[in-house]
Amino acid sequence: MRHPTHLNGYASSIGSLAQVLPGRLDDSYFGYKVVCSCSGEVFSVKKNDRPLVIATCKGCQNEIVLYDTNQYPDATPCKDEGPLVQVIGPEGESDFLVCVAYEYPEDDDEEEYTNNDISWCYIYGVPEGLARKSFCVINDETM
Ligand SMILES: [Zn+2]
Repeated sequence: MRHPTHLNGYASSIGSLAQVLPGRLDDSYFGYKVVCSCSGEVFSVKKNDRPLVIATCKGCQNEIVLYDTNQYPDATPCKDEGPLVQVIGPEGESDFLVCVAYEYPEDDDEEEYTNNDISWCYIYGVPEGLARKSFCVINDETM
């Protein structure tokens, strides 16, 4: 199981929420439910055009980086990143569970590549208890 280092300590087993992610998880594609160090699972999320995506825990206001193209060796961050804007779900949701998935290159060699060498990131918001109402926060190829 791999994920970028900024998710260290916050990547929890995705369990049944894997259904909200596109495709099947495998040995180059990993999905997680985001859980705060306070064990909080409900977040508000903001993002900009870098893209940078940050989740803020509703319980303790801890900020967790979910995606940041400045931190991936092969990524090309957008220079005009703009302001961080709060993500609102299709039914006005501002607080929700968060699932993330990171894809690594198919020819990945564990010796050469680091956990920050991701090739794709998906982030989904899941209104509490409503996996079928999940919505995409970001779907971004890093390169
Ligand atoms: Zn928290």
